[in-house]
Amino acid sequence: MTRRQFSISNVSHLAGEGILDIPSLSVLRYKNPAALLAEFKDTWGVEARAVALPVAEADGLLYDVGGLRGVPLSSHAQPSQSLKGFEDVVKAFLSAGVHIMLTLCPNMGYIPGEGLQLADITGITSAQLCIANPRSVEVLGAILGTGIDIVRDVTARSSGVRLQGVAVDVTDLWGMGGELGRVRATCFCTTCTQHFSDTAPDLLKRFKTFPNPWSLLLRPTGSGIDFVSEVPVGISPEEIVGIARQRNYIEQFPKAEQSELLEYANLLLRYMRSRHSLTVGAIGALFDYACNGLDEKLTRIVVMEGETYGWTSGIWLEELDNAFRDDGTSGYDEVWLNVTPSFLPQRVPYRAYMWRRSRYFINSFFELAGSLAHASTRVHTGLSRMTIEECRRMVAEQWQQAYGSALSSQAALVGLPERSAAEGSQQNVRRGFVGVGLDRDFGDRFSDQLVILPSRADSHARASSNDVGLDIQTILKRMQDGG
Ligand SMILES: [Zn+2]
Repeated sequence: MTRRQFSISNVSHLAGEGILDIPSLSVLRYKNPAALLAEFKDTWGVEARAVALPVAEADGLLYDVGGLRGVPLSSHAQPSQSLKGFEDVVKAFLSAGVHIMLTLCPNMGYIPGEGLQLADITGITSAQLCIANPRSVEVLGAILGTGIDIVRDVTARSSGVRLQGVAVDVTDLWGMGGELGRVRATCFCTTCTQHFSDTAPDLLKRFKTFPNPWSLLLRPTGSGIDFVSEVPVGISPEEIVGIARQRNYIEQFPKAEQSELLEYANLLLRYMRSRHSLTVGAIGALFDYACNGLDEKLTRIVVMEGETYGWTSGIWLEELDNAFRDDGTSGYDEVWLNVTPSFLPQRVPYRAYMWRRSRYFINSFFELAGSLAHASTRVHTGLSRMTIEECRRMVAEQWQQAYGSALSSQAALVGLPERSAAEGSQQNVRRGFVGVGLDRDFGDRFSDQLVILPSRADSHARASSNDVGLDIQTILKRMQDGG
């Protein structure tokens, strides 16, 4: 008896163009480009059309950028013996016949510059750059722009393959935290404060006291923060208060009177609109700066989680979709997102990112690993109480958690929505999908080879074994001396 062909067996071809995303060049330490591309084909049933490469890592840059001398190079800048740098990686993929895309994750915490960084309600800055600051846009734009030029140099000498697009990962632009009834969400830096006083005078000061309007849709817990992301663009203040009551977020408001809560809901909506326009404007400015003076047009991509409203991206996906024009005037041309039932783009072309919350958990993993190589986080945070071996185990465990959100199988493509044309267009709104070049075993191999600075915990361990090694004071002294 012959086996019948069921329609889902065709799923890979219906899935559209596939892109292999490599979030960190550390991946290439264990697998060469040919192996990664073969694995993509094995997993998804189609060949990758393009590869997406990072232009910077969580622990440093991948190449020199004019004007940023002194900023550290990443420990993954030379991924292997045969791939001695970013340019070699680009060449290797181009000669394998795939196009290149570049991704920038602006969460890097190693760019110096007090005024460029995120600031919370109390004025305390974090290491991460505030993307709203025009100067940060220039720094990030130069990093991305230099990467563009390196790829263009190489593609000028190869035929049939080219640089297709540039992507900015916005999954974690604006941090949030706090305790019950005291929500702190960023950013209150000079640029952000100025934007709010221009567009919504007196609004920001209502967020500086507790409880503030954020508590209607955000609730800090012992281990993080609960949030409501099913917030459509047209939601009314009454509906927001309804959700806050239903989820008991209103326990953060001592009085919780309806009129007071409605006023808060109004303020919250105004804040969300203003933050959305600020963020979208900053992303557009970043693309403009990085692409300034280029002859060819690169696809400008925004990498998002896929929720209706993204608290850490500050963006309403629905609004991004509504505002999209295919004449290139929107400042973005494509979105990569984890497809969820909450909202599907109708206008802006998109690709399904095959990982829950897209890059969010992946980035958190690499940020944690990156922080272990930096003296300040190793000395000033809770990480100082952990020995190198404990850190190594934590990184491996953290990877298992992050990998729990992977959607790495052909079967996951079955759940993708059918491809349909946008209104008045022949093009499919969903262009294809993005598969991530990271497997379950990555965490163990990565943590084994990770460079981790010793901490106070290590020097205690050494002191007890009578070994006179390098202690934390020596490391600090060397840092102060610039050594
Ligand atoms: Zn800011």
